[in-house]
Amino acid sequence: MNKDEIIAKEDLYSVGGFKKRQVAIVKGKDALLWDSEGNEYIDCVGGQGVANIGHCNENVISAVTEQIKKLIICPNLFYNDSRAMLLEKLVKISGLKRAFLCNSGTEAVEAAIKFARISTGKKEIIAAMKSFHGRTFGALSATWKKEYREPFEPLVPGFNHVPFNNMEELEKTVTDNTAAILLEVVQGEGGVNIGSREYFSQVRELCDEKNILLIIDEVQTGFGRTGKMFAHEHYGIKPDILCLAKSIAAGIPMGAVVCNEKINVPPGAHATTFGGYPFSCAAALASIEFIEKQELCNRSKELGEYFINELKRIESNKIREIRGIGLMIGVELKEKPVPYLHALMDKGVLALPAGLTVLRYLPPLVITKEQIDIVVEKTREVLQ
Ligand SMILES: *Cc1c(COP(=O)(O)O)cnc(C)c1O
Repeated sequence: MNKDEIIAKEDLYSVGGFKKRQVAIVKGKDALLWDSEGNEYIDCVGGQGVANIGHCNENVISAVTEQIKKLIICPNLFYNDSRAMLLEKLVKISGLKRAFLCNSGTEAVEAAIKFARISTGKKEIIAAMKSFHGRTFGALSATWKKEYREPFEPLVPGFNHVPFNNMEELEKTVTDNTAAILLEVVQGEGGVNIGSREYFSQVRELCDEKNILLIIDEVQTGFGRTGKMFAHEHYGIKPDILCLAKSIAAGIPMGAVVCNEKINVPPGAHATTFGGYPFSCAAALASIEFIEKQELCNRSKELGEYFINELKRIESNKIREIRGIGLMIGVELKEKPVPYLHALMDKGVLALPAGLTVLRYLPPLVITKEQIDIVVEKTREVLQ
C-alpha cells in the first residue's frame, strides 16, 4: 500500500480520536524511522516515550521470538519462569518490595489508585495541575486537562488537583481521608515541567507524617529517560507506589506497579488477564538488561546535557525557555508548537508537542551525537 491508500484506509475504518500526521511509518531501527515512501527520519518522538532502547532492538527480538515459540499464553492462575524473573528484576532495580504487572500506563495508575484505597481504607487522591496519568476513568480523574476530562464526566469522586511544586497548597488540600498523593516528578505531557528537589523531599515528609501513600507516576520518565533508571532517584526519595509502562518492554505493551510493604492487596481484589504474559516479561527483561549493559542511563545524562547545551546556542526570538533532564527535553516557544513540528517533519526530524507551547524531544537513548547535531541544526532552521 502507498501512503495515500494507508491514510485513506485508517481514516475510513478507525473510530478516530487521534490527531494524526500525514505520514505512514513502516520501518524502524535504533533512532531512525522510515515512511512508506522510503523517507528517513530521526525519531525524537520515541514512540511517545516507549522507544528508550531504540526501534527493533536485536536482544528484544530474540528474547521475544524464543519465548513465543515456547509459550504465549499463561494466565495468573499459574506461575511462569519469565514472569518470576521480571518481578524480581523490577523489585531489585526500584529498591521496592513487590510488583503487579499489567498492560499499559493507564492501567498501572488505575491499579495504584485501587491499591492505595484498599491499603489505607481512605478515599481521597491528590494530583497535580498539568498532570497526565492516562485515559481510563480512575487515571482520567487524576489527569488535569479539562478537554480530556469534561466530556466524560461524571468521573471518579475523591480527586483534587493542586499546583505543581507548591507545598502550601498541597498541605491545605490534605485531609484525614487522603489516601495518596499522585505525582510525576517531571511532568511529560504537561510541558516537561521539572519538580523541585525541595518540593519532593517535603512531599515525602508530609506523606510519612500523615500516613499518606506517595504514588510516583514514572510511566514516561522511567527506564533511563532522565539519566537515572527512575527519575525519582534524582530527588533522593522513594515512592510507596511506582507506576511504570511505556519503555518497560521496548514497545511490547506492558505496565507495572511496584510497591513497598505498606501496600496489601488481598487475593481477588485486583486482576488482569494479559498482565505478566510470558512474552511481554521476556521483552522487558531483555530491555532492562540492555539498558544496564549498555549503561544507557549515563548515556542519557551525557547526551541530554550535550543536546540541551546545543539547543541553547540557537538564536531565535521564538524561544522562551529550554529545559530538560537527561534525554527528556522541552523547548518552550512563545507560540503553539504544531507548525514547527510539521516543518521539522519535512526536514526529517520527528518531535512531539507538550503543554500548550512546548516542542518536546524524547529520542531513543541510543541516538548518536551526530544525529543530535542534525536535530539541533533542523530545529535552528525551523525556528529562524
Ligand atoms: C503516557 C502516560 C500515561 C498513560 O499511559 P498509556 O499506556 O497511554 O495508558 C500515564 N502517565 C504518564 C506520566 C504518561 O506519560
